[in-house]
Amino acid sequence: MYYPNLELAREAHCASMEQYKRMHEKSIKEPAQFWGEIAKQFYWETPAIEDKFFSYNFDLSKGDIFIKWMEGASTNISFNLLDKNVKSGNGDKIAFYWEGNDPEDYSRLTYRKLLEETCRFANVLKSKGVSVGDKVVIYMPMILELPIAMLACTRIGAIHSVVFAGYSSDSLAERILDSKAKVLITTDGVWRGEKLLLLKNICDEAVAKAKKHGHQLESCIVVAHLRRLNNLQGKMKGVNGTSNGTSMDIANVSWDDDRDVWWHDEMEDAEASCYPVWMAAEDPLFILYTSGSTGKPKGVLHTTAGYLIYAATTFKYVFDYHPGDIYWCTADCGWITGHTYVVYGPLANGATSVIFEGTPFYPENDRYWSIIDKYKVTQFYTAPTAIRSLMKFGDELVKKHSLSTLKVLGSVGEPINTEAWLWFYNLVGHSKCSIADTFWQTETGGHVITPLPGATPMKPGSATFPFFGVLPELLDEDGRVIEGEGEGYLVFRRPWPGMMRTLYGNHQRFQNTYFDRFNGFYCTGDGARRDANGYLWVTGRIDDMLNVSGHLMSTAEVESVLAEHSSVAEAAVVSKSHPVKGQCLYCFITPNTGMTFDEKLQVELKKKVRERIGPFAQPDVIQHAPVLPKTRSGKIMRRMLRKIAAGDRNIGDTSTLADETVIQLLFELRPCV
Ligand code: ATP
Ligand code: MG
Repeated sequence: MYYPNLELAREAHCASMEQYKRMHEKSIKEPAQFWGEIAKQFYWETPAIEDKFFSYNFDLSKGDIFIKWMEGASTNISFNLLDKNVKSGNGDKIAFYWEGNDPEDYSRLTYRKLLEETCRFANVLKSKGVSVGDKVVIYMPMILELPIAMLACTRIGAIHSVVFAGYSSDSLAERILDSKAKVLITTDGVWRGEKLLLLKNICDEAVAKAKKHGHQLESCIVVAHLRRLNNLQGKMKGVNGTSNGTSMDIANVSWDDDRDVWWHDEMEDAEASCYPVWMAAEDPLFILYTSGSTGKPKGVLHTTAGYLIYAATTFKYVFDYHPGDIYWCTADCGWITGHTYVVYGPLANGATSVIFEGTPFYPENDRYWSIIDKYKVTQFYTAPTAIRSLMKFGDELVKKHSLSTLKVLGSVGEPINTEAWLWFYNLVGHSKCSIADTFWQTETGGHVITPLPGATPMKPGSATFPFFGVLPELLDEDGRVIEGEGEGYLVFRRPWPGMMRTLYGNHQRFQNTYFDRFNGFYCTGDGARRDANGYLWVTGRIDDMLNVSGHLMSTAEVESVLAEHSSVAEAAVVSKSHPVKGQCLYCFITPNTGMTFDEKLQVELKKKVRERIGPFAQPDVIQHAPVLPKTRSGKIMRRMLRKIAAGDRNIGDTSTLADETVIQLLFELRPCV
């Protein structure tokens, strides 16, 4: 057990387990009072109707599923995030420090300036005919115009759908079609590390594909990002190390005069004020697609009031944010983490954050540590996949930098294996930072199971306890609640304010996906274990559970043991059918840089698993995997590994796969079994 450091606990918003338990209990027993009190910190044009603060149905046998918070209330999110902060005297406070792909390219934006730019761009959107309920697709790198575009949508009640700017034109086209978007916002291109992506060209392809399916996009607004860089390069020779130059690529940006406009041209004449449109509590705020780890991505819909108060509250308590702190979340706005914890949560708290455009590996593999040092970051939020990939380069790169300002470290996206947790805690956090291992989903809108930095004693790999308003249960196969210690399906008994309301345009799929399996519960699709102290351990996807000779195992457990071996950088485990055992373990191993994958390593790994978990868990196959198939958000796609293990080339939806060549390579390396 690792205890919060006393200094941190003394100042914390939630400073002890007793306080946590009290607050959690109140949030469950009196949800309307608990969240009503929090809602008072925000501006409401009209208040919620008192006895209609919270209503829902989670039980399909009683009718359709619905979730409503703060009925009757109306507000505007951008007003609460921007105007409110400016009015309260924080206009000159930095909202975002922006750090470009190139370390010499950086800027900053105050709350006042962010408000002005948001209003200006809201007026641009209006001039393109966008109004309440219209959909705007955003396909941009992590530049300041991205949050500005999102906030401008909220200003006028348009619904944004951000698509990660690494997706193919097919995926983008699908999302444009799905939402019948009026406007698309993009950039001419972007450098990601040493790789140039010509985003406008990808957009052109996507728009053409959407047109073939009968949807005509009205406008495409393009930020001249590469162009700006080029001008900069003219002034600062050699920046970016891009001797091949970008001017040629800019010349290649194709243009449709009827549809395409430059962002800066439009902004020039736009007014810097824009009266906010007051939105009803349950009006849609945004659509966002899940990562696609387990199948075709789902278009999750979030609404206004509940999302606002939940994003704000989780941010405040889970990162224990205080004025003066500098917070940095490495997630891209293309993912839910980038929505709730780059844009909405931090701004709702008047926070100062860092936004980073580049990759952890450029120009060197210590970029993250150098950014923490440069901006004196106090809260650092990233993903296990990033931590594991940085561990590979050894400890010296971390030690080179002063990380002494750090107080809270966060992890999200996948279960964090013990070795990565300890490295994060000991090396990056100097054994004095709390780690918030935050379990949540695109669907949950915000953290649902997480430690609180000043209160919760930590166990490496456990997401610990539910956040306020969240009531988790573990169910067995037959839907019976497992009390006390045990392992089962992780479900939630009732909604919290920030929960999804539906899958956009497909309420039926929403009900089938999340509510069909167990009546009366939201089913996460993840499995979890509760230990003797009541700690929750998310063990991975239910689809990934292994049943070997009657022993139920989770992939996370086996992978964590494999990853502890000094030669192993990353491990992924799936089941393969076995004539005797029913299923057996098939493991994919990525060796550390410079390590060889040989017979000896395989024998050692098998022995390790046998000793640590049990003889029944001994892997049957250990395959070399120089790289693993991952989603573009960096999660291991075990559904594809299962196919490779089975030798089945029919691998399903690949649209969210980061690198398609991996599949072929892994089939080639597949041992004869
Ligand atoms: P899809 O739903 O399309 O298959 P996805 O589930 O990966 O994709 P996200 O909403 O981005 O899409 O991810 C949520 C999932 O990430 C969770 O259901 C869980 O499996 C995993 N996850 C997130 N945070 C944690 C965590 N701290 N510990 C364990 N698992 C986590
Ligand atoms: Mg999911």
